[in-house]
Amino acid sequence: MTTRVPFNDLGRALQTQADLLRAAFEDVVASGWLVHGPHHRAFEGELAAYLGVPEVLGVASGTDALALALRAAQQVRPGQVVTAANAGGYTSVAARLVGASVHYCDVDPETHVLDGGALAELLDEISGDEVSAVVVTHLYGHQAELPEIADLCRERGILLVEDCAQAVGARRDGVAAGATGDLATFSFYPTKNLGALGDGGAVATRSAELAERVRQLRQYGWGTKYDVRLDLGTNSRLDEVQAALLRVRLPMLDGFNERRRAVIGRYSAAAPDGVRLLPADGEWHSAHLAVVETADAAGLRRHLDAHGVGTDVHYPVPDHRQPAWAQPAVHLPVTDGLVGRILSLPCFPELRDDEVDAVCRALGSYEG
Ligand SMILES: *Cc1c(COP(=O)(O)O)cnc(C)c1O
Repeated sequence: MTTRVPFNDLGRALQTQADLLRAAFEDVVASGWLVHGPHHRAFEGELAAYLGVPEVLGVASGTDALALALRAAQQVRPGQVVTAANAGGYTSVAARLVGASVHYCDVDPETHVLDGGALAELLDEISGDEVSAVVVTHLYGHQAELPEIADLCRERGILLVEDCAQAVGARRDGVAAGATGDLATFSFYPTKNLGALGDGGAVATRSAELAERVRQLRQYGWGTKYDVRLDLGTNSRLDEVQAALLRVRLPMLDGFNERRRAVIGRYSAAAPDGVRLLPADGEWHSAHLAVVETADAAGLRRHLDAHGVGTDVHYPVPDHRQPAWAQPAVHLPVTDGLVGRILSLPCFPELRDDEVDAVCRALGSYEG
C-alpha cells in the first residue's frame, strides 16, 4: 500500500536530537537559572551574531515579538500599521493588541509577498503621517527584496518591521532576513524552522534605542528592577530552558533549511502543468512551507489525500475577510484572487526520500 506522508512530524527531530536536548535541559537544571540566565544571554548573542544584527531580545512568542515591536513603534511614532492580509493574521492580532488600526496592502502575484508598487500607491493615498509602521512578512520563508520598501518607509519616517517568523536563516546577497528593518521579529513555535520545545520568540534590531525600549517593555516597563520607566510594559520572557534548547538547534539551522529547499526543488520538478510551486531555489528562501498555486486547490488537495499525502492551507481566510476584523469595503485583487488557489505540501527536514518520492508521484499524477 501507499505510504502515508504526514504534513509534519515533530517527533522525528526530537528523537534524533534527544541526547543533545536532554543534556541542554540537564544543564539548566544544574545551573539553577530559570529565566534570563546564562543560556538566555548566550542565545541572544548567538542569534545576533548569526543574523549580523547587534541586538536580539528573547521574548515569549512570535506574536509577543510583533506586539512588542509595534508597541515600541507606536511610542516612537503613533499611527496605523500597514501590512499584507494573506499572512495568517499574526500582525493584525499584534496591531490590535497595541490599539493600532490596520491598513491592508496587496501582494505580488508571483511571490505572494507585500508588493512594493502597491505600497507606494497606498502610502501616497493615505498620508504617510498617519502610518506608524509597515510590517513585511517574509511569507513561507521568501525573503522579500526590501531596499525599495525600506526607502519608501525611510522617506516618510515610517518604521519598517520584518516578520521573520517563517524566514529565519534566509539570506539575500549575504544580508539575513531581519537585518534591514528597524525591527525584526522571530517565532520559535515548534513547527518553525528554528523551533523550541514550546513557545518562544525574539525581536532583533540595529537600533540601541529601540532595543532598550523593547528590553524594558518585555519586563513590565522596568528600567531597572521595580523602576517603571515605560508605560504599557508586559511580561514576555523566553524561558531559560527554551533558550538552552534553541542553542542546540541554531547551529543545525542552515542544514535544515538546505534540506527543506531540496524537498521543494524535487516538488517543483515533479509538478504537472497548472500547478506552480512558489520558488525556493536559493539561500534567499528558508523554505518554511512548500506552497503551490493552482486553479482548484481543493481538487488537488483531494487528489493528494487519496494518494496518502497530508496537506494544509496557509492561509484560508485573508485578514480583511475574518469575522473579527472584516473590512467589507476593502478589495485586494491579488490577495482575494488567491483564495482557493493555494495549498501547502509536506516540507520538514526529517522528511524521508521515499516520502518525497511518494509526494512527487502523487503530484505528477494530478490532471487538474
Ligand atoms: C508563527 C507566526 C507568528 C506567530 O508566532 P507565535 O510564536 O506562534 O506567536 C507570527 N508571524 C508569522 C508569519 C508566523 O508564521
